[in-house]
Amino acid sequence: MKDFDTRRSSALLNRAQQCIPGGVNSPVRAFAAVEGDPLFIARGEGRWLIDEDDNRMLDLVGSWGPLILGHAHPVVVASALAALERGASFGAPTAAEVDFAEALCAAHPVLDQVRLCSSGTEATMHAIRLARGFTGRDVIIKIDGCYHGAHESVLVKAGSGVATFAQPGSPGIPAAVAALTKTAPFNDLEAVAAHLEQGDVAALIIEAVPGNMGCISPDSNYLKGLRELTKEHGTVFIVDEVMTGFRLALGGACERFGIDADLVCLGKIVGGGFPLAAFGGRLEIMKRLSPSGPVYQAGTLSGNPVAVAAGMATLSLLTPALYEGLERAGATVEARLSEAVAARGCSMSRVGSMFTIFFRPTLPSNFTQVSQCDMAAFGRFHRGVLKRGVYFPPSQYEAAFLPDSLSAEEMDHLVVGIQGALAEA
Ligand SMILES: *Cc1c(COP(=O)(O)O)cnc(C)c1O
Repeated sequence: MKDFDTRRSSALLNRAQQCIPGGVNSPVRAFAAVEGDPLFIARGEGRWLIDEDDNRMLDLVGSWGPLILGHAHPVVVASALAALERGASFGAPTAAEVDFAEALCAAHPVLDQVRLCSSGTEATMHAIRLARGFTGRDVIIKIDGCYHGAHESVLVKAGSGVATFAQPGSPGIPAAVAALTKTAPFNDLEAVAAHLEQGDVAALIIEAVPGNMGCISPDSNYLKGLRELTKEHGTVFIVDEVMTGFRLALGGACERFGIDADLVCLGKIVGGGFPLAAFGGRLEIMKRLSPSGPVYQAGTLSGNPVAVAAGMATLSLLTPALYEGLERAGATVEARLSEAVAARGCSMSRVGSMFTIFFRPTLPSNFTQVSQCDMAAFGRFHRGVLKRGVYFPPSQYEAAFLPDSLSAEEMDHLVVGIQGALAEA
């Protein structure tokens, strides 16, 4: 175990804190929940991150999900550079956008049409507005601990950073807006049914496999049950696949679990590490979107040529063999860690290449149960994996992601690092 030097990161953090609130441009990067300081990253090489102090870490965060192919994949880099040389942005349609939209519609079972935007937050915000415009209703249902970005309607009992910092929502969200968001625990059909009975619910939005309260598995009848209930009540069923899209399968969680959603949101992997996201779904709903319909939505940089080129290059590499490889790697990690996980009194959940080690002996199935984890122990674990050269998400409320094509040596490094940190935590 090499000495973990953080002098340059510490100096950068001091400067950053003067000019950026908390020194970071997104709160989850702050390492606050693990009582640490963020590492400033100098570069990525394949599956590895190298920070400003020259620490090399196997990366299980992957920019919070997008980097399924690892860092600076040559095909993605070449494609983005070639697009950039033709011009960064036109604010006008391009052939590449059409190719890309066609590829998305072909890959994801729910997409008849798709609209590109620049972040997952935008995708869910627009999808919710579209559902409201389509139904003429105002109320939405979200699930406790699911995260759908940082806008008003969904920062209510949200997961990810909001949970990490123990905030139920956020000041600055008008009570009148929050009142339109009803919540229900994950895996609880009755709570959803009770809201739907009111007859005023425009949309139900959910992460089909939540990754933002750690990785949680849906009970066997839950997703089908939600589909039936929403259909019965004329409520738009939005599956937020910003994390799971192109992660759990080409067609995301919808393909993997056979979910017939009305709308889906995509982001993260879809842009190959660039700011690109999308929402789309059934034609009947999508044609209500401006300019073909009255529901307004727009974006100066939507469909940005460089981001589209990186996204298209990424999609071109997502083969069935890649998903088989990720599934095998996930199963290997799970099998090789199971003893150390149990010995430490932890539980591990995994869906495909997403996984979480929970610091509680039995697997949680909703947000309340995740909050019962031993967060101090998770913090010790996190410091332990870092110094063993494994960059792990800095919160119990986050999922780790395996990148494609881990070598046998990298797999050993990952397993040994996590085993060591578990024993020490
Ligand atoms: C990351 C995430 C978002 C937000 O995406 P941003 O690009 O950070 O705005 C929304 N939904 C889910 C499920 C996510 O994981």
